[in-house]
This record gives sequence, C-alpha cells and structure tokens, in this order.
Amino acid sequence: MIPGAALCPFGPEGHVLRCDAAQAYRALSERFARRFGEPLCVTDSYRTFDAQVDLYRRKPALAAVPGTSNHGWGLAVDLCGGVESFGTPAHRWMRANAPALGWVHPAWARQGGGREEPWHWEYTG
Ligand SMILES: [Zn+2]
Repeated sequence: MIPGAALCPFGPEGHVLRCDAAQAYRALSERFARRFGEPLCVTDSYRTFDAQVDLYRRKPALAAVPGTSNHGWGLAVDLCGGVESFGTPAHRWMRANAPALGWVHPAWARQGGGREEPWHWEYTG
C-alpha cells in the first residue's frame, strides 16, 4: 500500500489507481471510446507488493523486481482491446493521444526498447 496516497476506482470492476491517475485514465478512456466505440480495456492496474512478488516468481521475464514496478504505486495499467499489440490502430491512437492526458508508453516497453510490452502504460502526470 502507498503511504498517504489514495487509490480510486476508475472503471473496470475491482481495479484501482492513484486518484489523479484514475481521473486522467477516465478522461483518456472517454476519448478512446469516442474514436473506437468502446472504452479502454484493462487487464492489470494497481498491484500489491505481494501480488508483484507472486508475479515475479511466476513470470520473472515479464514482471519488474518487486518494489520497483509502477503498478505498485498505482501509476501503471496493462491494456487490451488492441492496445496490447504494436502497430494496431488502437496502439497508434494511444501513442498519439495518451501523452496529452499524462499517460505514456515508457521507452523500455517500446519496440526495441529492451523489454517490449505494448500493453504497459504509465501515468506521469
Ligand atoms: Zn504493466
């Protein structure tokens, strides 16, 4: 849990993010829905330290070292609905539009970036 930082639901059942990130996500998802007819699809958001430890144990190549993931700060989402693949219209739309609302695709997760994760997006404010 994050000391002093509130977590807020942002849409999908059971998912939470830090409240400013949740608010920006909702605005982004509304814009996405105006373009694609459906809100953003999310598979993963805030992850507790225990959940990160578990994921790291099961999928070390895919998970950040526990304590270092932005998921643990409530500042990252893993998306689906087309965003999870490079080069799709949904992914290209996100690259073009998400940064205006504070959501970025970090360099390490891009094609050739070291650990390609087209689905992983982070809130930078
Ligand atoms: Zn992620």
